[in-house]
Amino acid sequence: MAHRVTLIPGDGIGPELAEATRRVLDATGIDFEWEYQSAGEAMIAEHGTPLPDEVLESIRRNRVALKGPITTPVGGGFRSANVTLRQALGLYANLRPARSIQGLETRYDDVDLVIVRENTEDLYAGIEHMVGPDAAESIKIITRAASERIARFAFEYAVANGRRKVTAVHKANIMKLSDGLFLESCRTVAADYAGRIEFEDRIVDNMCMQLVQKPDLYDVLVLPNLYGDIVSDLCAGLVGGLGVAPGANIGTDAAVFEPVHGSAPKYAGLDKANPTALILSGVLMLRHLGHPDVADDVERALREVIADGRAVTYDLGGTAGTAAFADAIIARLGVGSRAGAAGAAPAGA
Ligand code: NAD
Repeated sequence: MAHRVTLIPGDGIGPELAEATRRVLDATGIDFEWEYQSAGEAMIAEHGTPLPDEVLESIRRNRVALKGPITTPVGGGFRSANVTLRQALGLYANLRPARSIQGLETRYDDVDLVIVRENTEDLYAGIEHMVGPDAAESIKIITRAASERIARFAFEYAVANGRRKVTAVHKANIMKLSDGLFLESCRTVAADYAGRIEFEDRIVDNMCMQLVQKPDLYDVLVLPNLYGDIVSDLCAGLVGGLGVAPGANIGTDAAVFEPVHGSAPKYAGLDKANPTALILSGVLMLRHLGHPDVADDVERALREVIADGRAVTYDLGGTAGTAAFADAIIARLGVGSRAGAAGAAPAGA
């Protein structure tokens, strides 16, 4: 039976990355029916919103979406379509694996981190207002229900994927009530996994320093929304940059797979951007849809192309375009060769 998937190309570099990813996924032989939906800046003139209702309806119907990045103006303009989409669909868990790829020059060779970010509340919900003309207030809401739910997601992920430890990241020394509640909720859930999954916590500033110095000490990280956003970019930097960092937004009724990176407007339409992050998001989607072997094959082919180095984009030190990178991956699908990809293994997500 075909998988009907909502495909949102998005803004900026999104459409060319979405096309490259669609071609790779179709080349696996899995039967996809793509339901194209437009969201982003261009929708505002016609619909008054970057996220028309049809997009949400399509995802609700299909329960799975693959999404390119959507531009959000800085300091004004329309509300983030990404935040609205995650809240409207109850996509409470943002999963962002960060794993080293052989052939990419980075400070560490063996980073293998999984960021689990709470996706619905915290300062990132963007609830704010002016207090008179010269002061602004942002409201940070943390609830026990959302904190326990994301902590349980992190522990269940750890159990299902053979991970050893969950680290809760917070600033509960200063925000004793909000981050304190997040930490307390993580501790409550951790007790259910005692003896199976190790648990510890770190203050977010110290966590950033430690990740830069000793990423091998960490495994699965669980964070409130805003710290999760920032720390996941840091982790992307550890493994080769935003061009290679995938993500998944998961809820009880739907899942939306999208890269960590944004719309990188300056590269839009140039056939220059790296499709890896969206293709790896597609790999996460294949696992979600119950095709782990095909997911492994796509990831192997991708890793082989990167290790080979001849058909990669500018950010990975190459000169290939987005489409040529995808062609090189397609050429290696189903070949089953592990040559040049020593050490390659599934992303565990
Ligand atoms: P960005 O991720 O778009 O780009 C930052 C830089 O990273 C780029 O200039 C480029 O050098 C590099 N980069 C990013 N993706 C790349 C790729 N696939 N290949 C090669 N290089 C890549 O971040 P930004 O400039 O801060 O944001 C641009 C827009 O994207 C903003 O409007 C922002 O709100 C939006 N954004 C959207 C999402 C999303 O849709 N989920 C996520 C982050 C940012």
